[in-house]
Amino acid sequence: MINMSVEMNEIADKILSKNIDKQEALRNFQKLSEEEKDLLTSQLKVKLSGDDALKNKLSAKAAGSTLKAIDQRNLTEEHQNYIEQLNQEYEKFVPESKKNIAKHQHYFVDQRRPFHLIKDLKKLHFQITYQKAEGAYVYDIDGNKYVDISGDMGVNLFGHKPEFIINAVKDSLDQGIPLAGYSEKIFETSKLFSEITGHERVLFTQSGTEAVMFAVRIARAATNKKKIVIFEGSYHGLSDAVTAMSDQHGRSLAMGPGMLQEFAEQIIVLEYGNMEHLDIIEAHADEIACVLVEPVQSRHPYIQPVEFLKEVRKLTLEKNMALIFDEMITGFRISHRGAQGYFNIKADIATYGKIPGGGLPTGVIAGSPKYMDLVDGGTWNLDDDTMPKSKRTGMAGTHSQNPLKIASVYATLSEIKKRCKGDLQSDNCQYFQKELNAKTKYLVENLNAFFLAKNLPITIDDFGSLFRFRFIDSYWGITEALFFILLRMKGIETNIQGNCFLTTAHTDDDIEFVIKGVKESLETLIAQNFFCEVEQEEQNNTQSFATEHHLAPSKNVATLDNLRQNNFGQSASVGGQKESGQLESSQVSSGQVNNEQIEKLMNLIKADLQNFQEEQGN
Ligand code: PLP
Repeated sequence: MINMSVEMNEIADKILSKNIDKQEALRNFQKLSEEEKDLLTSQLKVKLSGDDALKNKLSAKAAGSTLKAIDQRNLTEEHQNYIEQLNQEYEKFVPESKKNIAKHQHYFVDQRRPFHLIKDLKKLHFQITYQKAEGAYVYDIDGNKYVDISGDMGVNLFGHKPEFIINAVKDSLDQGIPLAGYSEKIFETSKLFSEITGHERVLFTQSGTEAVMFAVRIARAATNKKKIVIFEGSYHGLSDAVTAMSDQHGRSLAMGPGMLQEFAEQIIVLEYGNMEHLDIIEAHADEIACVLVEPVQSRHPYIQPVEFLKEVRKLTLEKNMALIFDEMITGFRISHRGAQGYFNIKADIATYGKIPGGGLPTGVIAGSPKYMDLVDGGTWNLDDDTMPKSKRTGMAGTHSQNPLKIASVYATLSEIKKRCKGDLQSDNCQYFQKELNAKTKYLVENLNAFFLAKNLPITIDDFGSLFRFRFIDSYWGITEALFFILLRMKGIETNIQGNCFLTTAHTDDDIEFVIKGVKESLETLIAQNFFCEVEQEEQNNTQSFATEHHLAPSKNVATLDNLRQNNFGQSASVGGQKESGQLESSQVSSGQVNNEQIEKLMNLIKADLQNFQEEQGN
């Protein structure tokens, strides 16, 4: 089986390679047995998903030794007994946190409470109450200490309570909190922001959502155009202006109750990284004000389409569309200049939040005068008869320039500058994030090797110090939910939304602690039979393999992820007529072998992936 897998792997490489004789590859395909065709189709899907860990798992599958997480509909009495025992242990572990929920849930509204709720684990499903946080750790009101890898949703780069931020905020507090006028600090902070990011002009907003919302408004005002392009799988905050999903015909749909279809109709939702979709942007360039990208989507960090982004950059410049990079998560994390510095692509406008706020709420829009002048009219002299140069759009925000958060931003940026060695704008700048990224890579590679060795259907996706556990054969099934409960009981705090982060406060010991906790939690779940062997019969069924292993990089799953994560409830249906993912022999019959057919092969595989993803959404 392994040999066959290797062979199929080579043929799959040939098909996908740009330098091969495609006809030859297709001829090879025709010669295969049904079983081989199935395996090849799977290999192609894995390669299309660009996921190395999955490729390896496929080899493991071919060798007949892959595990899958159990289906919660098949819980046995033993499983139920284990869950009951865990309920009792958990109740003793976090009793005060549990009491708080019962006591306060009527008054306190929080969309996260029902998120990922599984009925069989209802007794384990509640948020814990923190008491304090310091360095790499959080402490709850039941006296437990956790290594915190939640990263505070991406805000936390230096660990909790770094002295330089606490002191800066305390000093600012001593000066009072005047909101109407400027402060010296806000001028210095804007300059520093510009110096680090390389963007000329800087505007503070109250949140990331607001920054993206205003950035889009600025782009519309500057270009006099209406439509915006976003990509499946991205998240840009809660505004209706940037939230839509596409159906299988490419129509944009509102994401859920209370969200207007009229807004969605101004949004073109395209597949991230799909070069063919550049044609759609080009065809609609006259109507498109901006292309908004999350350069590496925090929910799909393995998609890093640099060439695609470069093409988008070219096209947007040629056709007078603003390119907006939403660097809410990547900004200051992957490098001091964010994804723009890392990929060497400069956007017209970039939006930030999270890290620069240093724990206090902020959003930031930075960009070139061509766009940013639309907010304040640009620059003019006070002592002559010059006037604002450009028209202006509406912008306001009571707390946008709140001095406490400005003090925190200044302290955070100063620390970033201090820790970077060399010219901030040079590609040779030795930014300190490199070391943090390498530490994260160590954790990720160590654990991915463990998952492979144990044939577990899990992989960790990462980008810099961001990483996510991905259960390949289930979307938030019972095994995954139990895994995160067990991690907590091992003293590891994660984010229920899935994104995890390391910070500069994590020591090597903390990292080893996390690795150990992950391994032990999974060993427990293996011992308690929350993973089972994939049946041989099942392995031969390509379609079900794809379904079980979530060979699903982007399409629709991503937007549905967002939908679920934001708990928007009933979405518009994305279902549709199914097409077969299997190749009909007539489609590859001899004598008709040409590039078109290869194209067809790829389209069928893509359609199959899409069907699978749509099934996930229904
Ligand atoms: N854009 C991206 C890429 C994000 O990840 C987020 C939040 O997670 C936002 C925008 C919205 O930011 P905020 O939650 O501060 O409104």
